[in-house]
Parts: sequence; C-alpha cells; structure tokens
Amino acid sequence: MAQYTRGYRVDGDAIRKAAEILAGASHAIALTGAGVSTASGIPDFRGPRGLWRLVDPELFSIDYFHADPLTVWRHYASLYRAIRGARPNPSHYALSGLEAMGVVKAVITQNIDGLHQKAGSRRVVELHGNAFRARCTSCGAVYGIEWALEQLAGGTPRCSRCGGLLKPDVVFFGEPLPMAALNEALRLAFQSDAILVAGSSLAVSPANRIPVIVKRRGGKLVIVNMGATMLDGEADVKIEGATEKALPAICKRVAEIVGSDKTLCTSRI
Ligand code: NAD
Repeated sequence: MAQYTRGYRVDGDAIRKAAEILAGASHAIALTGAGVSTASGIPDFRGPRGLWRLVDPELFSIDYFHADPLTVWRHYASLYRAIRGARPNPSHYALSGLEAMGVVKAVITQNIDGLHQKAGSRRVVELHGNAFRARCTSCGAVYGIEWALEQLAGGTPRCSRCGGLLKPDVVFFGEPLPMAALNEALRLAFQSDAILVAGSSLAVSPANRIPVIVKRRGGKLVIVNMGATMLDGEADVKIEGATEKALPAICKRVAEIVGSDKTLCTSRI
C-alpha cells in the first residue's frame, strides 16, 4: 500500500516505513534522476522549471548532432556551464551516508553531473554518461570536457589522435546506453531486494525498467519524488516531497535502526 505525503512537510510514518524497508533489506540500491540535483541549481528536464522549457530537446538527438555538430556543441557549452560549478546537496550526502553504513550498495544514476561522486558515493553507475568528458566518435578516445570546449573557438572539436568528431560523453536521444553501465545496473537490479528511487519521473526507459525488475523479483520499492512517477502504483512507499528533505530524514532513521552514526547522513566535506 503506497503512502503519500504532500509538499515539503515530509510525513514521519512514510519516512519510518521507507527506512525500515532499506535497513531490513539484504541488498538495497538507489536509482536517482534529475530531481536530486535541482537543489544544487541544476534544472531537471520535466519539472515545472525544466530544461525542456529552455532548450529544444531535438538539439540533443544523435541525428541532429551528426547533421550539425557545431551548433550542438555550442548549446552543450551553455548546458555544461549550468553543471560545472554545482555542489552536492543534502540528497547526495544522504545517499553517500547510506552507502557508508553498508545499507545502499550502489547508486545507479540517470544524472550526468557527477554530484554523487563529489558527495562521497563510491559505487556509482552512470547510465547516461558524464558531462565532464568528451569522447571521440571514431576511436573512442576520452578527453576532459574543458579541453574539448576550448577547441570550439576553432570549430567543431576533433580528436587529437585520429581527427574523428568529438561528442560530449552523454547519451543523446536515439543513442543506446553505454553497455557496461547498463549491464552493471541490470546485475545490481537482479541482486537487490529493495530499491530507493529519488528525484525521477521514471519516464525514461530503460532506466525505469530497473525498479520493475526489483519488484518482479519480490523486492520493495520506495519512491521519493515531487510529482507523479510512472511507477507510483507499484510503490510500497511513495513520499511526495523534496529529496533534499526526505533523504536525510530517511538516512537518519536508518542510522538509528542499524546503530550507525547519524552524522554520516550529512556533508562530510
Ligand atoms: P525528469 O526531469 O524526467 O524527472 C525529474 C523529477 O524530479 C520530476 O518528476 C520533478 O518533479 C522531480 N523533482 C524536481 N526537483 C525535485 C526535488 N527537489 N525533490 C524531489 N523531486 C524533484 O528527470 P529524470 O527522471 O532524471 O530523466 C530525464 C533525463 O534527464 C535523464 O536522462 C538525465 O540524464 C537527464 N538530466 C540530468 C540532469 C543532471 O545530471 N542533473 C539534469 C537534467 C536532466
């Protein structure tokens, strides 16, 4: 039975229930989306102030990129500027705290902002790539994004080894997910008896298949999101609220249950 809380006031019963599920699991994982990073100043895609209201999604399709890479690179440069200086927020620290307690085994993320790693999460599976890298579409060589953006002054960034076209190392519409990350996420899903989904509308496939796998195998699903998700009907607990409020509260309650240090749930940097 799903439980709901409204707005920013996060209901204590739902927090307790979510914490019990996570603390009682033998292998819990988390799946995060853009909503965990809005409190760091990075807009989500589909929320009320979402990026799709500012940038045309068609620009970030692989077909458009191959047709006009320079235009896409220029737009990417402004998107990257929104991400570059962002700092982790309480959502990221709570998730790294849950990992430090041994409760959450890994974070699978749809985000490209690297904020889980900055908050201290160690096992992070990036399904949609990483905004801080560029990759050669011909030979696969990887470059730092700043270097690639510097090349923009002279035209489309090119690989210094083979001359191939560089592309931001993030998954564009129409592109497959990186195979290694997808396989790792699927392996984790098949091992897990609980999943915490945070800040995702679960509108994007195949990421939204991961909680379905956990549920089909008899595991529990906890969702923390502002707004409806595609899997609300399947959730054991749905917390309708801000992740930066709910996740630290869940983390502290888990710490009480498993006898861990609550300070792990907040910034250690
Ligand atoms: P989404 O935009 O589809 O969903 C985000 C959800 O989070 C929405 O339902 C929104 O209402 C909710 N939300 C926003 N702020 C919240 C908060 N503080 N607390 C709780 N919920 C909040 O994003 P998605 O599900 O991650 O999928 C879209 C794609 O967007 C992904 O592929 C991802 O790669 C990409 N993306 C990434 C970033 C990033 O790296 N930070 C930012 C924008 C988009």
